[in-house]
Amino acid sequence: MSQSSYERIQRIHFDAGEGYDIDTLSIRAGQSRTAEGEHSDAIFATSSFVFSSAREAAARFGGEEVGNIYSRFTNPTVQAFEERIAAMEGGERAIATSSGMAAILNLGLALLQHGDHVVCSRSVFGSTVSLFTKYLIRAGITTTFVDPTDIGAWEAAVTPQTRLFFMETPSNPLAELSDIEAVAGIAHRHDALLVVDNCFLTPVLQRPLALGADIVMHSATKYLDGQGRCIGGVLVGRDKEMEAVFGLIRTGGACLSPFNAWVFLKGLETLPLRMRAHSESALAVATWLQQQPGIRRVYYSGLPEHPQHELACKQQSAFGGVLAFEVEGEREEAWRFIDATRMVSITGNLGDVKSTITHPATTTHGRMSVEEREAAGIREGLIRFSVGLESLDDIKADLQRGLDALHG
Ligand SMILES: *Cc1c(COP(=O)(O)O)cnc(C)c1O
Repeated sequence: MSQSSYERIQRIHFDAGEGYDIDTLSIRAGQSRTAEGEHSDAIFATSSFVFSSAREAAARFGGEEVGNIYSRFTNPTVQAFEERIAAMEGGERAIATSSGMAAILNLGLALLQHGDHVVCSRSVFGSTVSLFTKYLIRAGITTTFVDPTDIGAWEAAVTPQTRLFFMETPSNPLAELSDIEAVAGIAHRHDALLVVDNCFLTPVLQRPLALGADIVMHSATKYLDGQGRCIGGVLVGRDKEMEAVFGLIRTGGACLSPFNAWVFLKGLETLPLRMRAHSESALAVATWLQQQPGIRRVYYSGLPEHPQHELACKQQSAFGGVLAFEVEGEREEAWRFIDATRMVSITGNLGDVKSTITHPATTTHGRMSVEEREAAGIREGLIRFSVGLESLDDIKADLQRGLDALHG
């Protein structure tokens, strides 16, 4: 008599509570092994699961017996990824989603209802703004956008209907910081939840839950993968809220594919090493760029000149791999700089082992009106640079080509 697929898996649990370091959790948490004894996690590329009897099927569907039924509900590879990232963020439970945006949409729809109000940083990912202003509003959920650096603004935006606060820190591309602990305090005084998009730093460099946030959200597409292969997302938080989101995901179907989950599992194994290396190179690039003629300003929370450097040192253990800088000039000069580089990739993506360069005003922030961009500080001369893991000398040499083109 064959065992069911679930029973054949031996789950090896590593809880953050057991005192393991994040370097260990990133490799071991959620690890599973079938009776074959494979060392690397298996990919459960299956849409459904087989039962040993009609009785077992009935027990699974009825919830009397725990186990897999259908991969829109649960899948062992997806669960392994969820357990690992939950342990790394120090949360009770994680729910993986088909993309970062699906994580935010399902979070909003699962936890909010008609009439509820959201306070959101105005410096968040472009699609996040659209999600609140164009789509969640159709469900009767309204949003007020605030200056993320201004604690008073977060407090002033609260209404009796406020249920959720949303922030991304540091922000993209200008590296504006929100004080997680302080905003969590405001949110909790008003019985609201604080959600932090932790995409740019990952749990290796910033752990929002430990600072008082209720839910952490990721676009796994960025650093968690780290090699630009897959789209995916994840939410981490308490059982209560995650169970509500899980209900919507398993019904609405914004689930993560097992293959993508496996890629993210592999990505997490090197995340601590990569994030430290990205941070080290980015600080070196930011410091160097700042001294170059033709560069008006560098935006990076690791620079002592950054207006919130002190807060960065308090809530982050390093400063991440993404920076932005303004060239002296307008669009023409910024484009000339970008086009003169040879090695770095001109792409909208970031958080990759490959360095990437972007002109926000005409790409990622291109849908904003000129006035909106101006208000958000996204000028025509601004360039975003995601520092990869190529040799620092080669990265600088490539940026030097851009600098030379500015003067040429
Ligand atoms: C990319 C990104 C998202 C959206 O994630 P997708 O996986 O592309 O859906 C959300 N927040 C931040 C900060 C991002 O960089």
